[in-house]
Amino acid sequence: MKIAVLPGDGIGSEIVAQALKVLHRLEQDGLRLELEQAPVGGAGYEAAGDPLPEATLKLAQQADAILFGAIGGPQYDALPRDKRPERGLLRLRKELGLFANLRPAMVYPELAAASSLKAEIVAGLDVLIVRELTGDIYFGEPRGIATLAGGEREGVNTMRYRESEIRRIAQVAFEAARKRGKRLCSVDKANVLETTELWKEVVTDFGRSYPDVNLSHMYVDNCAMQLVRNPKQFDVIVTGNLFGDILSDEASMLTGSIGMLPSASLDANNKGLYEPIHGSAPDIAGKGVANPLATILSTAMMLRYSLGNEQAAGRVERAVQQVLREGYRSADIHTPGTRLAGTNEMGDAVVAAL
Ligand code: NAD
Repeated sequence: MKIAVLPGDGIGSEIVAQALKVLHRLEQDGLRLELEQAPVGGAGYEAAGDPLPEATLKLAQQADAILFGAIGGPQYDALPRDKRPERGLLRLRKELGLFANLRPAMVYPELAAASSLKAEIVAGLDVLIVRELTGDIYFGEPRGIATLAGGEREGVNTMRYRESEIRRIAQVAFEAARKRGKRLCSVDKANVLETTELWKEVVTDFGRSYPDVNLSHMYVDNCAMQLVRNPKQFDVIVTGNLFGDILSDEASMLTGSIGMLPSASLDANNKGLYEPIHGSAPDIAGKGVANPLATILSTAMMLRYSLGNEQAAGRVERAVQQVLREGYRSADIHTPGTRLAGTNEMGDAVVAAL
């Protein structure tokens, strides 16, 4: 398997270095990988005048999966829009057709106190949000701001989904649920919006080929409430781009620790881009204090979804849990009585646990 490794900017290279240590450790046990690095984001701009250099895009296209650090930094904020680091990531997602965004929100019992909710509500939480990433009101036409006859302005966006777009995200969600707790909740607003009425119909129909997965439906307003009332009721949630944008941020913040959360963005063939949900953290870059666990857990998702290696994925996740149980904590999750560890030490501890 060929992996494109794109560390990016800020803490990107520090955290990706820890994920590489983990992959090298797995290679010692027989995992066969070809790893190749390339610059992206601000680093891409500095190397080639483009946040997504041609050679980086080519490498990403040829690879079976992409391990991504983070991009961005204040030094790039004054660049023209098309040269900014964020453009590199958006273009990469578009060029590769990554339409399925998978965001697990997990709360390790050891970190339950970090949540803004009561520990008993979130301890052991393990929910996966599957968000459609390339359709819906964010892309629908017509769109724009027009001036009406009387001089008043009107803003317009269009919520649209085709059956084929709904079916392909439903497939990703059913497959993911099958690999987990076999419960899928499809979130819509079918009582008001025809687009999501179609969504509900197509998901229900598609679900007939997954009799082993228990499918339920929930309105988005209720889901937003249930996520803070009783988040442990969910296994996998599937929803459109707009609702998923909001619900996945809500769910990730239940955990209270941005440095712990991985993500995957997949295409139709399970090729994926794997990255922590956090950014390049310029405030702590170069200090050796960043939490590498979100990136290491993204590597576990890569092993599971793109490389089909559930065993190795589980090993990495259990190693992370063991490190937390042993008391290692980077500064962002450190509490009195636990052992403060830098980026390198956290990575080494995961390798030792493996
Ligand atoms: P951020 O996620 O980089 O940082 C927010 C806060 O969380 C900071 O205090 C940071 O120190 C902390 N933090 C983040 N990751 C951490 C980690 N692994 N360990 C410990 N602490 C961590 O968000 P921001 O400050 O809003 O953005 C900084 C830059 O990152 C911007 O240029 C932004 O555009 C970019 N960004 C990139 C991505 C991405 O690459 N996908 C995502 C979000 C933001």
